[in-house]
Amino acid sequence: MRWKMSDSRDLQNFSGGPGALPPSVLRQLQEAIVEVPELGLSLLGISHRSDWFAGVVAETERNIRLLLGLSDDYQVLLLQGGATQQFSMVPMTLLRDKQQPAEYLDTGYWSGKAIVEARREGPVKVIWDSSDNGYCRLPSDAELSYSATAPYLHYVSNETVEGLQFHRILGRDEVPRVCDMSSDFLSRPCDAQRFSLIYAHAQKNLGPAGVTVVVLRDELLKEVPEGLPGFLDYRNHVKAHSNFNTPPVFAIYAVMLVSRWLLHDIGGLSNMARINSQKAEILYGVLDAHADFYRGRAAPADRSLMNVCFNLPSPELERRFLSEVGSAGFSGLAGHRSIGGLRASIYNGMSLVAVERLAEFMLGFRAAPAVGLQRLARAN
Ligand SMILES: *Cc1c(COP(=O)(O)O)cnc(C)c1O
Repeated sequence: MRWKMSDSRDLQNFSGGPGALPPSVLRQLQEAIVEVPELGLSLLGISHRSDWFAGVVAETERNIRLLLGLSDDYQVLLLQGGATQQFSMVPMTLLRDKQQPAEYLDTGYWSGKAIVEARREGPVKVIWDSSDNGYCRLPSDAELSYSATAPYLHYVSNETVEGLQFHRILGRDEVPRVCDMSSDFLSRPCDAQRFSLIYAHAQKNLGPAGVTVVVLRDELLKEVPEGLPGFLDYRNHVKAHSNFNTPPVFAIYAVMLVSRWLLHDIGGLSNMARINSQKAEILYGVLDAHADFYRGRAAPADRSLMNVCFNLPSPELERRFLSEVGSAGFSGLAGHRSIGGLRASIYNGMSLVAVERLAEFMLGFRAAPAVGLQRLARAN
C-alpha cells in the first residue's frame, strides 16, 4: 500500500529534535530515494563526486546566502559531526595557544556542553551563569560586561532544552561573535554579518541529522593554528567545497529542499518568522490563560519561539498528559531527559494547524484532568 502523507502522524510530531520536516519536502525525499527524477538513480547511490551533487552543494550554499544576505567574504560550509563537533572545532581554531580567555555565556544545557569542550583548548571566562536562576531566564544587557580583547564571544541563541531564546544580538562589534544557532537557524531574519561564525546542525529546523551548516567570515581563518587534524581544519572544507571526504549526500539534499521551500514556498525568513510567532503565540496564550495549571518555565521576555517548555502541577498530571496526548495522535512532547516536564517544539516544519490542534487538546485537558484523577483514585 502506498504511504499517504495524510495518514502520517509526523504532522503532529512536536519532538525537540530531530524535528518535523515540511510534508512537501518529505514527498520529494520519498521520491528521490527511489529515483532522482533528473538522473534516474537513487539518491542513496549517487556519487558525491558527481556534477549533480556539486550542483546540490552549490544551490544549498546559494540559497543560504540569499536567505541570510551574506556577502562574498563569508563561507557556507556543510560539515559533519553535529553541533557537538563545533563545540571543539571553534576553540581549536580560535583559542588554542591563546592567553586571553574566550568569553562564554552559560544559559542552559547546550551552552554548558560548549564550555566543557572550550576549556580543553584554552582559557574560558564565563561571563554569565544562569544556574543561579535555575536556567529560567536570560541576562539583560545591563547584566553583561564584555572584554574588548577576548579572542571571541560564544553564546547559544536558542536554548532548546530550557526553551529560552535571545531576541537580540549580544557582544561588541570588535570581538568576533560565535553563535550556536542549531535550534533557531533560518527560523527568523538574522543579521548574519554581525557574526564571525554561526553553526547549526540540520536536525532541528533544516533537515535530517548528518549535516551541520557553518557560516564563517574568511578573516577568521587567517591565523589557524598549525597541526590541526585535517578533518578539523575549516580551511580544508573551504578548499574542497564541503566535499573533503564522503559527505552525507542524503542529508545535504534534504537541506537543499528545505532551503528551496523557505525561499519559494514560504517566501523568505520574514514570512517564516511571522508564521513561527503565530504558532508560539497560540501555545503561550494557553499557558498564560491557565497559568495555575500550565506553568511556563521561561521568563516571558526570554521565551523561545521554537521550544515551549512547561510543567503541570504534579508529576502524575504530567504523566497523564503525555499518555493522553499520545493517544490523541501527538508525539514528542516529553521534556528533555535532563529536566523532565513537557516541551512542544514548533520548528519551521511544524504547521500552524497542528499547533492549533495541540492548543485545543491542552484546553480540553485543562478542563478534564481533575475528573480523570478522581476516577484513577477511586479505581485504586
Ligand atoms: C540539539 C542541540 C545540540 C546538539 O547537537 P548535535 O548535532 O547532537 O551534536 C547543540 N546545540 C543546540 C543549541 C542544540 O539544540
